[in-house]
Amino acid sequence: MLNIVLFGPPGSGKGTQAAKLVEKYGLVHLSTGDIFRANIKNETELGKLAKSYIDKGLLVPDEVTIHILQSEADKYTGVNGFIFDGFPRTIQQAEALDAYLAARNTSVTMMLSLEVDEEELKRRLLLRGKESGRADDQNPAIIEQRIAVYHRDTAPAKEYYTRQGKYRAVNGVGAIDHIFALLCAEIDTASAK
Ligand code: AMP
Repeated sequence: MLNIVLFGPPGSGKGTQAAKLVEKYGLVHLSTGDIFRANIKNETELGKLAKSYIDKGLLVPDEVTIHILQSEADKYTGVNGFIFDGFPRTIQQAEALDAYLAARNTSVTMMLSLEVDEEELKRRLLLRGKESGRADDQNPAIIEQRIAVYHRDTAPAKEYYTRQGKYRAVNGVGAIDHIFALLCAEIDTASAK
């Protein structure tokens, strides 16, 4: 299986690139952010809980997030692989993902990280807030909080995959198709090994 962790700060283009990668490589797209937003829309208990964190720019607790990711992934058997978008966001989530995939006799192939500078991130998030109506993208203080949480809790996950020799960074600023080509080159190199 080809199991890609797509990584990067909020606004780095993970969702956009994930959609293109899914199409090209026939992968199942699992986005914890999308799962939470669907639950918020449907006003489920999970949605209410997730909203209380998302609205503050905080991470949803690991136990909840890991459980929801696993139950979603369990729905798919006999697939080419997964693209994990916005998960894992902590070391604990990365460890849980390794254990989950090991139980399925597979593993993370690589973490692909989209590198985007902070000014560009803030600009993109505010623009997305205007266009999509996503509440967590409309408030500059919440955006700052999400970027701070990224540096504090999520960036260490890079080290986790670096130690496993699975971390690859790509410049996430530029034309969407150019960035996509860089990601594909990394995947094709890893798959050829
Ligand atoms: P995203 O769409 O990936 O930017 O996620 C939107 C929000 O959902 C984040 O700011 C977090 O509050 C929450 N969220 C998404 N994925 C995770 C995760 N893996 N762990 C904890 N919280 C998450």
